[in-house]
Amino acid sequence: MIFDPFELNYSKIRAYLDCPFLYRYIYAERKFAPQTPFSSLGLSVHRALGAFHARPGDLGDLLQYYEDNWIHHGYGRAQESMEFYNRGARVLEAWWLHWQANTAAVLYSEKHFEFPFEKWRIKGTIDRVDRLPGGLVELLDYKMGFEDRNEWDVAGSLQLKIYALGLARALRQKVGATGYFILTSLQKVSLPYDPSGEEATLALIRETGDKMLALTMDRKGNCPRCPIRRLCPESTAKEE
Ligand code: SF4
Repeated sequence: MIFDPFELNYSKIRAYLDCPFLYRYIYAERKFAPQTPFSSLGLSVHRALGAFHARPGDLGDLLQYYEDNWIHHGYGRAQESMEFYNRGARVLEAWWLHWQANTAAVLYSEKHFEFPFEKWRIKGTIDRVDRLPGGLVELLDYKMGFEDRNEWDVAGSLQLKIYALGLARALRQKVGATGYFILTSLQKVSLPYDPSGEEATLALIRETGDKMLALTMDRKGNCPRCPIRRLCPESTAKEE
């Protein structure tokens, strides 16, 4: 795929905000950040849930979707892969039981959006959108729950803000709420949507997009926590 600096999505913007060198490595130089057991497990579970919402069925169907979408990369040993596979299966089994008692009216799952903004095209894929009373919708992003999430995280989430813009502008929906569904704790953390912040989100996209276009490399991120710390020429944490 050709690198298109006018195409923006949350992951690109997040990478640049975390570190301009991370953005350059992944998107401009088109190298890949190594997958970890946690990133592979998260993606496998997301894909299984996406398939389930598209073709609902019973628990056996959900676990079959999981097996079909299992990602083998990122594991050091077969034993580790099996441990993570079983961990994901337990998460999905618990989610399925919860879903039986808390079924929602799912309008979209794994829904792609794209909308123009000045010289850019903003793209993304939303995990789940549920219908709410009064013609509103609730945008939900599935999180595995490896890190705690609370209402402050929802209120400050750039990802949810960009997705809400996509839901409103590209898919013409009235956004009533946005939030996370935490898979390991089976909790929804959701807040009413406040559109008054949209201009600030667009201003951040504009400012970041312009810096990405100019390949402004004016700072480094947190090298010890960076996924490419052992590969990046600028890393100050190659041995960690
Ligand atoms: S290792 Fe450090 S300098 Fe390199 S991309 Fe990561 S945060 Fe940036």
